Amino acid sequence: MRIGVLALQGAFREHIMMLEALEVTAVPVRQPAQLGELSGLIIPGGESTAIGKLMDAYGFYDPIRQQHDAGMAIWGTCAGAILVAHEVLDALPDQQSLDLMDIAVRRNAFGRQVDSFEADVDFSGLDGSDEYRGVFIRAPWIESVGVGVEILARHDGEIVAARQQDMLATVFHPELTGDPRVHRYFVETIVGGR
Ligand code: GLN
Repeated sequence: MRIGVLALQGAFREHIMMLEALEVTAVPVRQPAQLGELSGLIIPGGESTAIGKLMDAYGFYDPIRQQHDAGMAIWGTCAGAILVAHEVLDALPDQQSLDLMDIAVRRNAFGRQVDSFEADVDFSGLDGSDEYRGVFIRAPWIESVGVGVEILARHDGEIVAARQQDMLATVFHPELTGDPRVHRYFVETIVGGR
């Protein structure tokens, strides 16, 4: 199994280190031609507008959609969750998304006064306990989900993790904790369970 991490901007190195700690082959993805060999792709946190512009410049939008159709699982963290969403609220006027997951995501939703914070979230489906330490950095929230989407975690009533078949979105940063359980969930349950 090879998992790619989109390595254009943002926290891609931390995802690669977390996957390697789980003994999964992790590939930094810088060109669309690399997508063909992947069982799953992580789109990391960072700045969704910057990652989106680079995805456009390198021609990633259609190849990611095509590889997803061909069976590649996808996980978006934070900015990555914005990029996989069907609808982006508080987007920049020209901001694009992949429009793969039936979710509406609001950018910077937790507000400037709490730009970044940590909080325990209840994340259903993880090994051991459901409690997981969420690291939120200028995080969006998932404002609404379509009928085929399972809500996996909430914080203060807001949806912060969701799954639709072979796609996962988390608005916090599991790669910035020492706890590999969300990565294991993606690898074993979502990629491995298809
Ligand atoms: N606020 C950022 C955005 O809109 C996301 C922040 C993050 O990925 N940590 O892209």
